[in-house]
Amino acid sequence: MRLVLFGPPGAGKGTQAGRLRDTLGLNIISTGYLIRSAIRQRSPLGLRVKELVQRGGLVPDETVRDLASEAIVHQRFDNFILDGYPRTMQQAEWLTAFLEAYKAPLTAVFYLKVPDAVIVDRLSGRRMDTKTGDSYHVALNPPPDSIPADRLIQRPDDRPEAVLERLKTYHRDTMPLVKYFGRSGLIVPIDGTATFDDVFEEICASVGMEERVSV
Ligand code: AMP
Repeated sequence: MRLVLFGPPGAGKGTQAGRLRDTLGLNIISTGYLIRSAIRQRSPLGLRVKELVQRGGLVPDETVRDLASEAIVHQRFDNFILDGYPRTMQQAEWLTAFLEAYKAPLTAVFYLKVPDAVIVDRLSGRRMDTKTGDSYHVALNPPPDSIPADRLIQRPDDRPEAVLERLKTYHRDTMPLVKYFGRSGLIVPIDGTATFDDVFEEICASVGMEERVSV
C-alpha cells in the first residue's frame, strides 16, 4: 500500500501517519522530518535550507525530490505513507512518473480538510518530541508523561509569522494538487476537524482496513 497524507500544515498528517505506522506497520516518509534532521545535524543540506524552513518557505523541488526518492527506494516502493510530500505541482508530477516507472502507483491520497482559522489555533499548541519527531497538542493530544518536558519544543516554523507564510504557500503551491490527484480518482477527502480517532477510522475504512483498527 502506498498512501499520501495531504493537507495544510497542522491538519494532523503527522499524527495520522504515526497511527498508520503503529497499527498497520506502514513506514512513514516525512520530508519535513528528514529536513529537520538535516538541520539539527548541520549537514550541508541542513545549513543551506535552515533559514528558509524556519521562515515557513518551501525547500526547492530538486532537493526534496532527492530525499523522497531515496526514502521510497529504501522502502522498496511499497508499504509507505508520504507525509508532507508532494507539495507542489512539479513534485506531484515527478512522483507520479517515478512510481509509474516502477509499476508502483499510489493507492490513495487522503486530503485532510481543515480551515485556516483552526490551523492557526492548532499550531500554536503543537509541541514536538525532539527525539522521535512525533507531534502532540497541549490540549487536543497531550504528550504522555513518559516524555521529559525538555524534549518537547515548539517548532520555529510554528511561530505565528511563519504559520501565515506557510498557509500562503499552501494555498498558492499545494492546493492545486487536489485537482491534480482528483483527476486520477485518488483523492479521498476527509473532515480534518473531526477528532483524531474519527479521522483515523475514516482513513482505515476507506482503504478497507476496519477490522485492523484498534481504537
Ligand atoms: P512539515 O513537517 O511537513 O510541516 O515540513 C516542515 C518544512 O519542511 C516545510 O515548511 C518546508 O519548509 C519543508 N518541507 C517539507 N516537505 C516539503 C516538500 N515536499 N517540499 C518543499 N519543502 C518541504
